[in-house]
Amino acid sequence: MDESFIDPFEHYPHHGRVRLGHIGKGTAKPEYGLRLYKLTLWRWCGFCHRDLVGNSDLWRNLQVDEAVPVSVAKAFEFSSDFYEDAFNRVLVCPACNAFGNRYQLIPSSNWVPPQTDEDFAALRYAIFRERWELVRRLNPADEELWGKWKSVSST
Ligand SMILES: [Zn+2]
Repeated sequence: MDESFIDPFEHYPHHGRVRLGHIGKGTAKPEYGLRLYKLTLWRWCGFCHRDLVGNSDLWRNLQVDEAVPVSVAKAFEFSSDFYEDAFNRVLVCPACNAFGNRYQLIPSSNWVPPQTDEDFAALRYAIFRERWELVRRLNPADEELWGKWKSVSST
């Protein structure tokens, strides 16, 4: 696939390097998704960059994801002040969200959990970029399956 990585958080206030506050739990569309959109004005899927707000058909598919997945954040004891913050959330489409659940953090031997906003933002960048590779490049099983679809003639 021929496309380049875009860091959505670079387009958030303070270039995504400063916490924006908790946006709460509940339901994405009426609650935390709307709060996230108001704070960031980022309207595209964080992975494939399709518009999710331009019309109601697109918006129906809108979901919200954590750049640093909650499972990773909990396993490595990050402060919830970081991973529950809006600066760890991004709008995503369902297709990318469905392909996005394969991430595992393999920490280096001198690993320490992030202490500052800047630390967290750097780690978030590294993790999100790695996840983007996983989401956008089909794994071998999906590649093979996609081949079967692609080869069906439409004549
Ligand atoms: Zn997407």
